[in-house]
Amino acid sequence: MNEIQLLKQWVEESDNIVFFGGAGVSTESGIPDFRSVDGLYNQVYDYPPETILSHTFFMRKTEEFYRFYRDKMMIDGVKPNAAHFKLAEWERQGKLKGVITQNIDGLHQMAGSKEVMELHGSIHRNYCMKCGAFYGLDAIADGSGVPLCSRCGGTIKPDVVLYEEGLNDATINRSVQLIAEADVLIIGGTSLAVWPAAGLIDYYKGNKLVLINKTDTARDTKANLVIRGKIGEVFSAL
Ligand code: NAD
Repeated sequence: MNEIQLLKQWVEESDNIVFFGGAGVSTESGIPDFRSVDGLYNQVYDYPPETILSHTFFMRKTEEFYRFYRDKMMIDGVKPNAAHFKLAEWERQGKLKGVITQNIDGLHQMAGSKEVMELHGSIHRNYCMKCGAFYGLDAIADGSGVPLCSRCGGTIKPDVVLYEEGLNDATINRSVQLIAEADVLIIGGTSLAVWPAAGLIDYYKGNKLVLINKTDTARDTKANLVIRGKIGEVFSAL
């Protein structure tokens, strides 16, 4: 039996699948990841992406932050791919309990997924730092410069976890619970290099740990099944 057939069998037999993913899930939708050869870490900016996407940089050089953020993190017209759609379908069929994602693009919800743990927040939610007023994506995408609150003039900040910021406790707790109770855990499109997110997979207790990635990851040896390939193509075959 080949790897895809084995995964197909595990999926057919299970009603408790959990998916844990990262930026590689959305590259086939046209959003660059961080660590691929054509990813953001291999492009040249005035500052490294980790610096620009840090809390300190946001507070000190807000306009420059937004130039990078609008250009690289908010790509116009992107659509979910086969991986996003298949995960949403499994949830509707009662087979998948939840998606845990490091992505901030909202593509899982756009594909129809309901139980989505966004470990690093979402570009679709933005708040005024002064009065807490909520703003959607358009408030950031449609303007230029630093987006300001129309009510009080305060600076609007994306509900995205920047470097130096902590993750939401409720999101972590629910993610740990999903992973700890999962029968099949599928990890895909992530270098597993960003912590504490990457550490969450250690809560898995089962024996059907699947890793789907284009390149090697540090956790390949822990997996029960490793599929080296493009996640959209792999999910299309399931
Ligand atoms: P990463 O860039 O560190 O790693 C991506 C991994 O996915 C790499 O190992 C790469 O080989 C693999 N990959 C790329 N395309 C693939 C494909 N089509 N199929 C299978 N594998 C593929 O990404 P990460 O581990 O998610 O960590 C980066 C951080 O950057 C995350 O915290 C995330 O919040 C953020 N980020 C998010 C987005 C987004 O929302 N779409 C995009 C870029 C970065």
